[in-house]
Amino acid sequence: MDKIKMKTPLVEMDGDEMTRILWGMIKDELLNPFIDLKTEYYDLGLEYRNETNDEVTVQAAEAIKKYGVGVKCATITPNAERVKEYNLKEMWKSPNGTIRAILDGTVFRAPIIVDSIKPYVRTWEKPITIARHAYGDVYRDVEMKIEGKGKAELVFTNEFGEEKKELIHDFDGDGVILGMHNLNKSIESFARSCFNFAIDSKQDLWFASKDTISKKYDHTFKDIFQDIFEKEYKSKFNEMNIEYFYTLIDDAIARVIKSNGGYIWACKNYDGDVMSDMVATAFGSLAMMTSVLVSPDGDYEYEAAHGTVQRHYYNHLEGKETSTNSIATIFAWSGALRKRGELDNIEELIKFADNLEKASIQTIDDGCMTKDLAILSNLENIKVNNSDEFIKSIRVRLENLYKLQ
Ligand code: NAP
Ligand code: MG
Repeated sequence: MDKIKMKTPLVEMDGDEMTRILWGMIKDELLNPFIDLKTEYYDLGLEYRNETNDEVTVQAAEAIKKYGVGVKCATITPNAERVKEYNLKEMWKSPNGTIRAILDGTVFRAPIIVDSIKPYVRTWEKPITIARHAYGDVYRDVEMKIEGKGKAELVFTNEFGEEKKELIHDFDGDGVILGMHNLNKSIESFARSCFNFAIDSKQDLWFASKDTISKKYDHTFKDIFQDIFEKEYKSKFNEMNIEYFYTLIDDAIARVIKSNGGYIWACKNYDGDVMSDMVATAFGSLAMMTSVLVSPDGDYEYEAAHGTVQRHYYNHLEGKETSTNSIATIFAWSGALRKRGELDNIEELIKFADNLEKASIQTIDDGCMTKDLAILSNLENIKVNNSDEFIKSIRVRLENLYKLQ
């Protein structure tokens, strides 16, 4: 076959450790032989971030804004240990945090479903995509320990010096208090990202909070979502036959467990933190979770939800064999290539993304899998592949799909 041609470049962000190794293998085995790959390359590996004083991360984010689609490899978020290990000038911030702040986006995480691994919740047949609001609430709170008797009050002083006051509690002994906030602007961006992604992926959108108890705070979230839905999205949703559904958070949990999946679940910051770990585990493995950052302007950044798989990398450096699962990273590429194909109207590129995903899923369902999946699967004749064999097993099936067509 002739290699598929691209029009606009994809923003490619390389990363660290084991995922950087997989990145190269995926390009060599699964992409370059089929596509005339056109990317604008940014090396977000920790060494180069350090060399450029992290400027490269900002440049990559700006490039996503320019071209509209990026694909990112997992990267190290430095801590004290990493500062020593890599002899860093500074403890650079999380690249994901930097990119998210520049794009003002929302992260959508979805599991990749295969027949040979059954979710723990047996009704779940289709993916549940979680969208987590990434600003404020308890993550930007102010807390105080109270000692002894006294009055705690909530005070707001406006720009003209006028005060608004609420009693929090009249303490007659030790206790604790907390103050948190959110911004209408941030909630509005979150809501628009969620509605856009629902349209984009043709799925219903669920949102939940505790508005019956939190009559002003959570109610504001509910009202903003409802208002934006009515004004900007309702007719499009009707036209596409998808639904926006609001309910109380505890009712949502009960419904999620009884559902078949196949919708987006928009979560407030804390709910998303907790529920995304539950959903990931219940579907199988972190190595089977994709993640996409969507900005309110419609820019997309695709990546795997897991990290750089450090333990495997150290084994790799010692020359030991690894069996690291590349599925989520492959799906980051297929997601980005499909989106590029849709934006540039390249039918073969969209088809290639579909085939790449099909070949990956087929490989696992044929019983060729990495160790993490072998443990979860109840197939009988499983062949445990090393990192390299696994990607080559996918290559064979991808070639077959093209031969069949
Ligand atoms: P991790 O890289 O996700 O790995 C945690 C463990 O999960 C691994 O040790 C491995 O378990 C298993 N695992 C994860 N992905 C796997 C895969 N593809 N195939 C097989 N097993 C997989 O998380 P971490 O060890 O906490 O973090 C390592 C580095 O990644 C840190 O420096 C962190 O800053 C960074 N990180 C980056 C991102 C990102 O860029 N988005 C996200 C999270 C973490 P076993 O060891 O038991 O095999
Ligand atoms: Mg969490």
